[in-house]
Amino acid sequence: MTTHKAYVSYIIQTMTRKVADAPAQEKVKSSNQSLVVSAIENLVDQASKLHATNIHIEPRDRYIIVRYRIGNDLRVGTKLPLSEFEELVRSSKTLARLDPEETKRPQEGNFNLNVNGQQHNISLSTIPLLNGEKVLFSLHSAALSAPSLEGLGYWGDSLETVKLSLSKHSGLIVIASNGRGANAMTLLCIAHYLNNPALSVGSIEDPIIYSIPHVTQMEISSHGPTYTQAMQRLVNQGANALLLSNLPDRRSASAAMRQAKKILVCASINSNSALSALRQFNKIGSSPEITMSNFNLVVGQTLVKKLCVSCRESFMPSAAQLKQMQKLVSSFSFSKLNKLEALASEAGLGSDLKNLGTTKTSVQRLWRASKRGCPECEHSGYFGYIMTTETVDMTSPSIKSQIIKPLALEQLKTLAVKSGTIPQPTDGLIKCARGLIDFNDVVNLTT
Ligand SMILES: [Zn+2]
Repeated sequence: MTTHKAYVSYIIQTMTRKVADAPAQEKVKSSNQSLVVSAIENLVDQASKLHATNIHIEPRDRYIIVRYRIGNDLRVGTKLPLSEFEELVRSSKTLARLDPEETKRPQEGNFNLNVNGQQHNISLSTIPLLNGEKVLFSLHSAALSAPSLEGLGYWGDSLETVKLSLSKHSGLIVIASNGRGANAMTLLCIAHYLNNPALSVGSIEDPIIYSIPHVTQMEISSHGPTYTQAMQRLVNQGANALLLSNLPDRRSASAAMRQAKKILVCASINSNSALSALRQFNKIGSSPEITMSNFNLVVGQTLVKKLCVSCRESFMPSAAQLKQMQKLVSSFSFSKLNKLEALASEAGLGSDLKNLGTTKTSVQRLWRASKRGCPECEHSGYFGYIMTTETVDMTSPSIKSQIIKPLALEQLKTLAVKSGTIPQPTDGLIKCARGLIDFNDVVNLTT
């Protein structure tokens, strides 16, 4: 990147970031709303301790109910006096530079909040209700360092496949996750992986969740460029790689496929699995063969809560649980599971466990969360997150040779498994055997 381009990137980055800064916090705090802002700080502090990603705040008949999103669960937290509600919503809007008097239409914004020395970036969303408004804080801690691909949950051959795809100069990588948080975390990880002074990386986000050094970040807003226009602007500025968060529609997905013929494009969509992501893209291309020839890699991921290592519990699966496992894993065999667990252990998954939980003929030990938890995990039984993953290498010769023929996606799934893809439920089961995730979270995975 030339010095001029680096300067322009910096300017665009600065202009497109709409995150309120610390003075906004101070501005509100200097007014008579300081008590309410302190209450907001307490809520954010509590959410941070619980490793929650969202805070839901709603008025009820006699009180305000606060709930924390931890993984897929909503945990009921503090009840606040109803009399504080209006001021709490108004102060939140002021922090996010929204119109505090507007109560009849939804509003969205961002702000930074410093709590006990830790900087949090928070997205605020408000929607009108019959009896007031619902407020949602989405927490994106600035203290979070970018996770590594291994930290996200990639291991073994799938890790190597992802790394190889990211080393290419063109082609499309599609990341299908169960939510914006999981997609944002993955793109953050990829941005750091690609981070190289010789490479110009542009990203389009809606909204910007994490600030990524050396990446030109553009945010989509109602008064800014459209998704497709933003993509073109970044390409015009010489981007070598594009990171596209949550492709919103058919037009932007088509544009992403066009750009992928010239540069590397990593696009995330909300979807449950690699197969359903392919189904969505298949509807966009003029024919399945054309669509699929643009792909390098399709990744399916599910963000799940990681077990607290201080209080997790091991158990021997019952006959009924063994049946559940067999339903989850196509052509199930104990020896296959045992072989995969051994590979996962060698790759460092659950490195604190000396012995394997599986043998060639049985499953001796799986893991679940403690109901009582411990002080380490604030008695939740969980600590942090990890993904269950599945990677379909669309460039593998066996898949590529089939793409020239119109191919049913179900057939493609069978083919992918034959060429080495470990489906998410199998990956989940391995991670459960390695003490990383709860068996019930594996059962809930979409096949
Ligand atoms: Zn614990």
